[in-house]
Amino acid sequence: MSFASLGLSAPLLKAVAEQQYTIPSPIQQQAIPAVLSGRDVMAAAQTGTGKTAGFTLPILEQLSQGKPAKGNRARVLILTPTRELAAQVAESVATYGKYLSLKSAVVFGGVKINPQMMKLRGGVDVLVATPGRLLDLYQQNAIRFDSIETFVLDEADRMLDMGFIRDIRKIIQLLPSKRQNLMFSATFSDPIRKLAKELIHDPVEVSVTPSNSTAKTVTQFVYPVDKKQKPKLLLKLIEDGNWEQVLVFTKTKHGANRLTRFLDEAGISAAAIHGNKSQGARTKALSGFKNGEVRALVATDIAARGLDIDQLPQVVNFELPNVAEDYVHRIGRTGRAGASGQAISLVCLDESDLLGGIERLTRQTIERRIVEGFEPVHPLPDASAKPGAHSKRRPHHKNHKSARPEHKDGQRTPGTPKPARRRPRTQSKAKATV
Ligand code: AMP
Repeated sequence: MSFASLGLSAPLLKAVAEQQYTIPSPIQQQAIPAVLSGRDVMAAAQTGTGKTAGFTLPILEQLSQGKPAKGNRARVLILTPTRELAAQVAESVATYGKYLSLKSAVVFGGVKINPQMMKLRGGVDVLVATPGRLLDLYQQNAIRFDSIETFVLDEADRMLDMGFIRDIRKIIQLLPSKRQNLMFSATFSDPIRKLAKELIHDPVEVSVTPSNSTAKTVTQFVYPVDKKQKPKLLLKLIEDGNWEQVLVFTKTKHGANRLTRFLDEAGISAAAIHGNKSQGARTKALSGFKNGEVRALVATDIAARGLDIDQLPQVVNFELPNVAEDYVHRIGRTGRAGASGQAISLVCLDESDLLGGIERLTRQTIERRIVEGFEPVHPLPDASAKPGAHSKRRPHHKNHKSARPEHKDGQRTPGTPKPARRRPRTQSKAKATV
C-alpha cells in the first residue's frame, strides 16, 4: 500500500516522500481514510506507531480545502498532555504541511504568553496546545473556538493520568457542537471509555496494537542488581556497550538529578529532563541529546512522555515505574516504526512486585541477566520469574489488593502460567555474563 492510494494529494505526498516514508504504517493505513471520511475516530495506538502522521496528514488534506481561519480563531485544535509532545506534534504539522500554505501555532505553559497571543491574532489553521495554557489564552480572549472543524485529543490516557480531565471537559464545552473528533489513546481504561462516550459519536474504531502489548522490535532484559550498585552497573553497561545515546528513566526528579551528576562525573555527558526544569533547560537537554552532545538523557515519566527521538537504540529503566502501563510507554521510546531497540531494567529486590505487575500486564517473562561483579546480595525471588510467581508472599486479607492477576472470577490473566512454587533463592539458571 502506498500513501498515494490513501487519498492524499501531491503537496502532502511530496512532504512524506522527503521524510523517506515509503509505506504507511498500520495505524496510518487505517486512520488516514477514516479521518478523510469526516467521521469521528477512536484509535488505540501508542507512540511509536506513526500515529502523529496518521492524524496530521488527513487533517492537513482537509484543511487544504476550505477557507483560512479568521483572527483569533483556529480550524483544528490538537490537545496534547505535555509541552514536549505539543512541540513535536507542531513540528510534524510543519513538516508534513511544508508544501501547503497553512498557518499553525503551538502553545504551552512554562514560556511567555505574549508571543503566543501575537501568533494567534491573525488566526491559524492548526493550533496545537496543552490544556492549561489553552484555557489561559481563552480567558484572555486570545483564542475563540467557534471555527473549530476538527478536535484531536492525543494521548488521552496520559491526559487523565496527569489530572487534566476538568480542563478537557471545559474545553470540549466551548467547542462548536458540529465538529469532527479524533481521540488517540494507548490504553482504553474505563475512565477513557467514559470520556470517549462524551466526546465522540458513532466513531470509526482503529486499533493497531493489542492494548498493553510491547513492540516486538524491542528486546527486553532485566538485570537483577542491588539498589546501591545501580549507578555503577549503568555506567558499566554504557561503557562496555559503547552506547552513544541512552534514555534513562528514574522515578523521581531528585533521582534524575543525582544520576545525571554521577554519570557526568564519570565522564558520560548527561542531562536531566523533568518537571522542575524550565522549558528552556528541557529544550536544551533534548536538542543536546538529539544532536549527540548528550549521551545519556535522564528523565522522569511525565517529562519523557511523547519524546520522539528517531531510532533510539537504548532505553534503561534505572528504576521501575509504579504504574505498570508506564513501562510500556517508556520502552515505546525505542524500537519505533520498525527500528530495533533494547530496553533494559535494573531491578532490585524492593521492585520485585513491580516487575511482577509489568510481566503480568505485558504477558511475558522478561529474560534475566546477571553481570559479573554485580551479582545481587539481595536477589529477586525466583529468578525463573514466571509472571505472578515472584511477588512477595503477603497475608491474604479479604480486601487486600494482592499483586496477583486481578480477575473477578478468580481466573488467571490469559497467557500467564500457573504460579510456580517458590524455589530457593538462586539465580544460576538466569545467569549470563555480559
Ligand atoms: P509517532 O508514533 O507519531 O510518534 O511516530 C513515530 C516515528 O515514526 C516518528 O519518528 C515518525 O517520523 C516515524 N514515522 C511515521 N510514519 C512513518 C512511516 N510511514 N514510515 C517510517 N517512519 C514513520
